[in-house]
Amino acid sequence: MRYTHTMPPPRPLTRMPAPSLDFSRPGTPAADDFGDIYFSTDGGLEEARAVFLHGCGLPERWQGRAVFTIAELGFGSGLNFLAAWQSWRQSGAKGRLHFISVEGFPFERAALERALNHFPELADLACPLIDSWPGPVRGVHRRHFGDVTLTLVHDDVMPALASQAFEADAWFLDGFSPAKNPAMWSPAVMAEVARLSAPDARLATFTVAGAVRRALDEAGFAVERREGFGRKRHRLEARLIGERRTRAAPLVPTIIGAGIAGASIAGAFRRRGLTPRVCHDPGHIAASGNGAALVKPRLDLQDNPASRFFLASYLYARHIYADAVRHEGLSHIAKTAKESERFHRIAAQEPLGPGGLVWTGEALAIPGAMVIDTEAAKTRLLDGIDVQARPLGALDDADGPLILACGYGIRALLPGSDYRFSRGQLSWTSGTLEAPVTYGGYAVPIRDRILIGATHDRLVEEEDPFTLRVGDDARNLAQAEARGLPVGPDTESHRASVRVTTADTLPRMGPIGLPDGRRAHILSGLGSRGFTFAPLLGEALVSDYLGEPGPLERGFAARIAP
Ligand code: SAM
Repeated sequence: MRYTHTMPPPRPLTRMPAPSLDFSRPGTPAADDFGDIYFSTDGGLEEARAVFLHGCGLPERWQGRAVFTIAELGFGSGLNFLAAWQSWRQSGAKGRLHFISVEGFPFERAALERALNHFPELADLACPLIDSWPGPVRGVHRRHFGDVTLTLVHDDVMPALASQAFEADAWFLDGFSPAKNPAMWSPAVMAEVARLSAPDARLATFTVAGAVRRALDEAGFAVERREGFGRKRHRLEARLIGERRTRAAPLVPTIIGAGIAGASIAGAFRRRGLTPRVCHDPGHIAASGNGAALVKPRLDLQDNPASRFFLASYLYARHIYADAVRHEGLSHIAKTAKESERFHRIAAQEPLGPGGLVWTGEALAIPGAMVIDTEAAKTRLLDGIDVQARPLGALDDADGPLILACGYGIRALLPGSDYRFSRGQLSWTSGTLEAPVTYGGYAVPIRDRILIGATHDRLVEEEDPFTLRVGDDARNLAQAEARGLPVGPDTESHRASVRVTTADTLPRMGPIGLPDGRRAHILSGLGSRGFTFAPLLGEALVSDYLGEPGPLERGFAARIAP
C-alpha cells in the first residue's frame, strides 16, 4: 500500500509503556515519571469512597437503574474500580454496572497484585481481576465479573477517549495532580468527557485546580467545591446540565445459528440475564463443529484499530473459554526466511507484553494460545437456552428482531451479498504430537490422534461443499509432513465445512436491512478465526443491540459494519 500525506504514518504495534513504579513508600505505590502517588497515604480505599463514590452520589444514584455506567481517567491499580464494585455488591443493586477506564501506562500483573495486596478486604474481588488482567496490551479489553463489566481502554488519554462512544452516568477523574500531569486535564480532554456523558452525569475529582474547574465549566459542567479528604482541603463535584433520558426495554430477539457466532451472541445475552430464542438448521454443517479449535492471535507489525482488535479479541476469548481449554501453548513454524524475520520483529515488539510471544529461532511460541473443546465452549455459552431445530429460510414475522449468525447459511438468506465462501476440509490421522503446531495449516493432538487442517478453496458456484475429497486429505497430510510432523500414513476420518470470508479479510458485525425490508443484526465473515473473534464480536453486537457501552473502538466498529 502507498501512504499519502492524509494517512497517519505506520507505527509499530508495541507493548504499552510501563509505569515507573516505586513501592518504597507506605500506603501507596508512586510513579517516578510523574512524581506523584496512586492514592492517598491517608487511606486509598477511604479516599476512593469519599472522593469518587460519594462525590458522584453513589451508591444512591445507581439504585433502580437497569444499567449504570461509570467512566474513569486513570485505572492505575484498579483500586477505585474495586471500591465501586464492592459498593455495588453491598448496596444490593439489581442491574448491571459498566466501569470503563482509560490507562496509558498499565501495570504488569505482578505489580497489580503487589499494589492490591494492601487491601485484604478487597481480596475476593482483586483475585478475578488479577487472573483476567490483559497486561500492557494496547486496545480495548472487556472483562466480566458477574453483573459488573470492566472495559479498559489502553492508550494515551486523547486517542483513548476519541476511540469511544458511550454515555457515562458518573466520571472519576484520577489522572495524577494537574500540576504534574496537565495532559490528563486539558480542555480537549474535558470536552471529550462531556461528549461521553449522559445528560445529568455526575463527575468527581480530588483536585480543585482553577484550570480544571474552568475546563469543566467550558465543557458544560456545573462545578462545586466540597470539603476534601485527608490532608486535601477541597475536592470537586460536577454535574452535566441536562435531563436523563429513559430507554424502552428491548424486544427479545431470535438468533439464527447455534455455531460459535450464535452461541457467543446468546452467551452475551445470558450474561445479562436475558434469554434470546436460538434456531439451528439441523441440515447445516457448521464451520465451528470440528470438535477442537485454535484460539490464537492474528499478528500484525503495525499498530492500527484492526491489529489492536486482533489482540483484544484473543485475550477476551481466553477470558470466555477458561472452562473449555484442552491444551495451552502452541508454536507457529516460520516457512520462509522472510517469515522468520517478521516473527522475530513481532516478538521483539512485545505486543502481548513480556513473554506473550517468544521467537525460538524457528518458530513463534505463543504460550497463551489454546486448543479448546468446541462443543464444551458452545454448550456453556448456550446454557439455559432451548435451541430450536428449524430449517433455514423459514423466517417469518413472528420471529421479532432477528440476529443472523448462520455462517454459510447467509448464502441462502442474503442472496447477492458480497460475502465470499471458502471450503475447508480437515483430516484426522493416527499419531502422537506433544503440542499443537501451526504453519499456515495446523496439527493438533487429540488423545491418540492428530487433527490436521485445513484446506482453503474458494467455493465454486453450484458445487456441494460437503462432499469429502480424498485428494484434500493427501494435501493436508503432505503439508504437515513437510513441516516434519509425525503424522500417520492414512486419514482415519475427515470433515468439510464452509468459512465465510470478506474481501478485506475483516469480519462483519452490525445492523443490516433484510431483502424483505426488515432490520436485523448480523455477525459474519469470521473466516477461519471464528473461535477467536466470535466472543468479542458477539459481546459487541449485544452491547449495540441493548444500547450499552461497547467493547470495540468506534472506528473499528464502523469499519466492520456490514
Ligand atoms: N484510579 C487509580 C487507582 O485506583 O489506582 C489511580 C490512578 S493514578 C492517580 C493516575 C493514572 O493516570 C496512572 O495510572 C497513570 O498511568 C494514568 N495516566 C497518566 N497520564 C496519562 C495519559 N496521558 N493517558 C492515559 N493515562 C494516563
